[in-house]
Amino acid sequence: MCGIVAYTGNRSATPILVHGLRKLEYRGYDSAGIAVQREGSLAIYKKEGKVANLAELLGDYRQDPEHTEAHVGIAHTRWATHGPPTTGNAHPHCGGENRIALVHNGIIENYRPLKAKLEAQGRVFLSDTDSEVLAQLIDSLYEEDLVTAVLAALKEVEGTFGIACISREEPGRLVTARRGSPIVIGLGEDETIVASDASAIISHTRQAIYLDDNDIAIIDGGKVDIRTLDAIPVQRDASDIDWSPDAAEKGGYEHYMLKEIFEQPEAVRNTIRGRVDLERGSALLSGLNLTPRELVEFRRLLIVGCGTSLNAGLVGEYAVEDFAGMLAEVEQAAEFRYRNPIVGAKDIVIAISQSGETADTLAAVREAADKGALVAGLVNVVGSTIAREAGRGIYLHAGPEISVASTKAFTCQVSVLLLIALKLARSNRLSRESGVKIANEIGRIPELIQEVLEQNEAIAEVAKDFVGYEHMFYIGRGYMFPVALEGALKLKEISYIHAEAYNAAELKHGPIALLDENMPVVALLNQGPGQEKTVGNVEECRARKAPVLGVITQGDEEAKAACDWVIEVPASPHYTTTITATVALQLFSYHVARLRGCAIDQPRNLAKSVTVE
Ligand code: GLU
Repeated sequence: MCGIVAYTGNRSATPILVHGLRKLEYRGYDSAGIAVQREGSLAIYKKEGKVANLAELLGDYRQDPEHTEAHVGIAHTRWATHGPPTTGNAHPHCGGENRIALVHNGIIENYRPLKAKLEAQGRVFLSDTDSEVLAQLIDSLYEEDLVTAVLAALKEVEGTFGIACISREEPGRLVTARRGSPIVIGLGEDETIVASDASAIISHTRQAIYLDDNDIAIIDGGKVDIRTLDAIPVQRDASDIDWSPDAAEKGGYEHYMLKEIFEQPEAVRNTIRGRVDLERGSALLSGLNLTPRELVEFRRLLIVGCGTSLNAGLVGEYAVEDFAGMLAEVEQAAEFRYRNPIVGAKDIVIAISQSGETADTLAAVREAADKGALVAGLVNVVGSTIAREAGRGIYLHAGPEISVASTKAFTCQVSVLLLIALKLARSNRLSRESGVKIANEIGRIPELIQEVLEQNEAIAEVAKDFVGYEHMFYIGRGYMFPVALEGALKLKEISYIHAEAYNAAELKHGPIALLDENMPVVALLNQGPGQEKTVGNVEECRARKAPVLGVITQGDEEAKAACDWVIEVPASPHYTTTITATVALQLFSYHVARLRGCAIDQPRNLAKSVTVE
């Protein structure tokens, strides 16, 4: 999720906090805020938008005694998950009358019942966030010791958190804890800087302690006391941060794209958390706000999107037909809006867009709503236009995606679409037993992706042989066809190699005329339905001297023998292999583009959020 910086020491906290927030800006965020402690009171400043807006609000903080005399503080850049990106929803959040202030990264999953309980005690909430619930909970449990209150509150919450917390009654003290969201403690002389990312620390110190999950640190100036969330003291060794400040901006990765590719196990874990119902073999998708009875009434599921989202939609189409036996179609948003489409009250329209601002998809949402269809958004950015206009939907919780070429949004979109297909199937004909099987397979996605990432170096090796080509084909069948489309799209976006994707069966209906030794073919050959047929198509390619790179199932010697190079991905049903094979092809495209010296994070002519038609 987004960024935390906190400070305790002898210096004025505000300039250090603002500097740290600027170092975290690269992650993408929607609002920012700080709280500083001075003479028994807390001052809180927050602002929608950029850190520059917050800095303007802070005014002359280098001279103002309000700041120069404040030596403890916490700061945050928010990437909204619960509630729109407004000043009111920005962190820090307080409990009661500014007694404590809290910044939080992550998601408090059980915030609803906790909020109801606190409201019943007469507490009034000032924001829509899950984070404020944690702040108020801490405050409600706070008698005289902040640490005791934080520990008690964290016992009650489910979900993920990286937090930093201060109290007006405990001068100089900073409390920080984590579960699932990173916290780094930068050690200085008589001072400590805490952050969610080492890039906010390294201009002050290279000595850092990385908290483990379920650790809490109580910090007073330069004194750091670490315990588990059960209050048992633990020793965590400091290590040297050896990044150059530049590399740290991208968390040590050369490009945002690579960083985001590597974030995928965690991103998908966040997407599916709380949504896979292993017990009933179904999915929990409260954002859709539809009962099984309502779901069975629909005749068709229509998916609209553009680019990578469209490719994800195609996997969704196949899965809905495959699991639920329900009519499903995927349509380019731009075509949909201008075609006077046949759509109405018996259709669910799922609009997919990472940013939630894609102009064509937004227009399709409006068209479908005008024609009486039920519209749901599948977007990453909370509070975005599509999320608001659709009124219902499912957030990806993939975290900010900065690289123009989408990676983690795709894998998270596919994960959600599989859950939607499962939910529809269980409202329909699918047995509990079969549902449980599918739910388990969806639950395995993060670890399967991890296995693919471990082959990064082997894939980089293969990529070396492709740097000199100017054209390529990608082929696949069934579930593997959208993977071919997405693989080819990624390659052309960032390496500028002309790449086309075809259903493997379509090759001989025209494109095969182009094949020769200068036209390599990437074939999706994973074990499963249609594999032998695609192997046959590969033979046809090689007979025309086209070199073949196969994406195959680990250990499949026969498929390996049919190819010149292979990338192996773990065995899984085709519906989840769509994800693992795509991750392998993301890495392949990345390395080809890197070796060709391309501007990977900002490819020519492309923009991250396409808000024009
Ligand atoms: N869930 C919190 C919110 O929506 C924190 C988001 C973040 O990690 O930035 O405010």
